[in-house]
Amino acid sequence: MVLRRVLHLALALGLIAGGSLAVGPDPARAASFTDIADSKFRADIEWLAAAGITSGCGDGRFCPDGLVTRAQMASFLVRMFGYSAIPSSDPFDDDDGNKHEGNINRLAASGITAGCGDRRFCPNGIVTRGQMSTFLTRALGLRFGAGNDWFADDDGNKHEANLDRLFFAGVTRGCGTAAVCPNGSVTRGQMAAFLHRAAAPSPIGAPGMSELVTHPAPITVQIPGPARYRGVVFNADASTATLANRFGTIVPRAATADRTAVVSGVRYAHLIDGPMAGSWVKVDGSLARAVGRAPRPPACRYDDILTGRRAYEQHAITLLDTIYMLPSTYAPTDLVDTGGLGLNSGYKVRTVVAADLAAMARDARAAGAPLQVVSGYRSYATQQATFNYWVSVGGYEEALRASARPGHSEHQLGTALDFTSLGGAAPWNYADWAATPAGSWMAANAWRYGLLMTYPRNKSAVHCYDYEPWHYRYVGRELAAAVRASGMTLREAIWAAYGP
Ligand SMILES: [Zn+2]
Repeated sequence: MVLRRVLHLALALGLIAGGSLAVGPDPARAASFTDIADSKFRADIEWLAAAGITSGCGDGRFCPDGLVTRAQMASFLVRMFGYSAIPSSDPFDDDDGNKHEGNINRLAASGITAGCGDRRFCPNGIVTRGQMSTFLTRALGLRFGAGNDWFADDDGNKHEANLDRLFFAGVTRGCGTAAVCPNGSVTRGQMAAFLHRAAAPSPIGAPGMSELVTHPAPITVQIPGPARYRGVVFNADASTATLANRFGTIVPRAATADRTAVVSGVRYAHLIDGPMAGSWVKVDGSLARAVGRAPRPPACRYDDILTGRRAYEQHAITLLDTIYMLPSTYAPTDLVDTGGLGLNSGYKVRTVVAADLAAMARDARAAGAPLQVVSGYRSYATQQATFNYWVSVGGYEEALRASARPGHSEHQLGTALDFTSLGGAAPWNYADWAATPAGSWMAANAWRYGLLMTYPRNKSAVHCYDYEPWHYRYVGRELAAAVRASGMTLREAIWAAYGP
């Protein structure tokens, strides 16, 4: 085997960086096929078609279960990597007249194949997974990951090093625990998946990486809470790994990882679930838990500091408490009446809340826990009037406990609501509204619809307000789930992940 490596990385990187896949004969043919609806590789096949790498097997079909021949593989690779002019050289005798001959010659001229011996290419031979790993390793210029012996069933196979490289790059996932089935055939559907992953291999190793271990079974990484984690970025050019502070993502307490790596003496785990899936987090040597403490919000006090994230699109991570506030000019313009959302009318929320709020109201009703809104959007002016009212009733100290000072209320976001039971009393008139059917349904389920109880019981020391089982703020389903999994209050979570 000739191991000359011709790197068409520039092209491969063009695919990655630009996201543009204007290669292949006819991207316009990127229509869906009639026989892929049940294929687990459907998305990959559609990607392949959109990229112009396949036009199917005829009659609007893709034949996902058909086996890939070496000649077909040559054409797939040529279309994907864009090897240009057909060379004048004709290194193989057994492909003469084959419709893929031109592409086979391109592949040979690029050093991707040396044939199957004696001036033969074996064009009709079925591609094995081992052969495919070598084709792709050369085409992608993969350099890292060999020698780790991740699979038990390829020991001594001549493609073992390339199977390991391909696994490291995330292009193959093996065929079972510690198995990669090197002599197994490759279906057209599987090929679509391999090529799709090869278009954006991740991660590619780096010189600074002293150890990388891929775990056949996912490992659990314990994470102490939402935090700012130091992550590692693996550059796509196969040359460097760089350290970067990765802010702004909240992860659950336990995440699973499939790979760990040591870069410059620091161990990282590659997360495969949760909102941070696909990224790497720093872990301690034992892998028992991620390193790093969630930054704590400041002790409760009264202050008037403008909150940092004030764009309307940032509402979910806008920190509001007794310290941080919105300006008086913060007034979202996309407010809708709750009456159109399956709830009582007369209160307003932002449209971003509408669909999930309506779904929640419908499901609460179906569960025998119908809801009633008693407060929605409150303008700065309304807060000012409300606070002044409470000052007039009981003085400033009393007002502080009863009402947020203007600018400090989450209701100004247009994403916070107060609820009670349909037809019930004001929620604060119950001993504990969370003990009612509607209140307990909300405590258990609101997060599923993206709403969080901002001021839960026994957490006043961290959220700085009295227990308010009726007050919910919409942050979106993903963030709500992550915050709930973290066990933190919203104030702690926002501070930990985003700061002020
Ligand atoms: Zn409220």
